Amino acid sequence: MRAWWVAASNPVIVGAFEALAEHSAHVTSRHRPICVASGECCQFARHGHDLFVTGLEAALVTRRTGPMEPTRARRAWEQSVCAHLSGRSCAIHALRPLGCRTYFCDPRATHWHAELAESVHQQVRELHDAHALPYLFAEWTWLAEAFSSAHARGLLSEAVEP
Ligand code: SF4
Repeated sequence: MRAWWVAASNPVIVGAFEALAEHSAHVTSRHRPICVASGECCQFARHGHDLFVTGLEAALVTRRTGPMEPTRARRAWEQSVCAHLSGRSCAIHALRPLGCRTYFCDPRATHWHAELAESVHQQVRELHDAHALPYLFAEWTWLAEAFSSAHARGLLSEAVEP
């Protein structure tokens, strides 16, 4: 966890994620999917959908949005609803994970977004290899809760203050 936390402050890694977000936006803009259930897909159990992210990306999002209050993070995990869902909108839209940028419930969006997600994920995987980082691909609310808890217990503090 600490390795991801430290790596998430590396400008090269931050830049790589930003480039992937830009690429995802570019591909998506060509297909113009329709959001038919605004906010529904962020209520994972209800929508029948899970969001998976890497430990590295969970660290990156947590650094950029600020650590979540532990009770809130735990409730989100237990209820299987993203803690960043505000009403029917994403409260961290500009900083949301790549998985949120490559999933669309538009029934017309069949092949292209799965291909985009696979391609983006492969590049994230290669980023781990390039920086000799441990790799974990896990459920988002669980990872967000883990980072919230670790931060609250001071387990990331030395990594924050090098
Ligand atoms: S980060 Fe935003 S878009 Fe992604 S699941 Fe959470 S609320 Fe939805």
